[in-house]
Amino acid sequence: MVKIFQSLLNFIYPPICPVCGRSVDAHGNLCGLCWARFNWISNPKCFKCGYPFPADLDLGPTPLCPHCAAGECDLDFIRSACVYDDVSKNIMLPFKHVSQLKYQTLMSKAMISCLRDLDLDVDVVLPVPLAYKRLFKRGYNQATLLARPIAKYFNAVLDVNSVSRKYRQDMGHKSAKQRRENVRGVFNVENKENIRGKKILIVDDVMTSGATFYELNRILRKAGASAVYAVSFCRVVHAI
Ligand SMILES: [Zn+2]
Ligand SMILES: [Zn+2]
Repeated sequence: MVKIFQSLLNFIYPPICPVCGRSVDAHGNLCGLCWARFNWISNPKCFKCGYPFPADLDLGPTPLCPHCAAGECDLDFIRSACVYDDVSKNIMLPFKHVSQLKYQTLMSKAMISCLRDLDLDVDVVLPVPLAYKRLFKRGYNQATLLARPIAKYFNAVLDVNSVSRKYRQDMGHKSAKQRRENVRGVFNVENKENIRGKKILIVDDVMTSGATFYELNRILRKAGASAVYAVSFCRVVHAI
């Protein structure tokens, strides 16, 4: 029945590549040409934070970047599907600022597939909260839209109420240190019961310096979370 419905749907709305409009196999898939233009993060990468290493390095099955080797990352795992560049930026920006949500399926799918080999056990999926003022202005939280299919995949609770965020001015182009300071104390756990003892996966569209993930991790651990993971669609990759 689902199959018949699906083929009927494909007949009425043929699946097309959300970037260029060529026809594709299924809704939310990219065509081969567009897929090849993204800088997808594969191995070798830091086993803990997902930082991509040059392709020709053979560092064994669980390599660590200098930050993680020095114990500077308190999250259990961070993963991102691709590198933030002109290609990924182009599909991120309309997603963030206009109600153009056609990229949502493609982004969620890519995020699920970059988590697959970790075989995580997840109780709660937590989209990075938006301050109420921003949510009201925009009408939706892009992280929540991305998180919904991810929560479904993990059979986990999608939690948009247990953590709140205070409104602060945009960070713009600031250093990693300034970003960390700006985000410090911005989140608040509203309901500890939903966090205590839980394995939590934080979801965001882009990871810039990691400051948002680190700060959320700090307050979630304080509230008793037993494991904290994070996933983003793309991440800014600085040389380390
Ligand atoms: Zn295409
Ligand atoms: Zn690392």
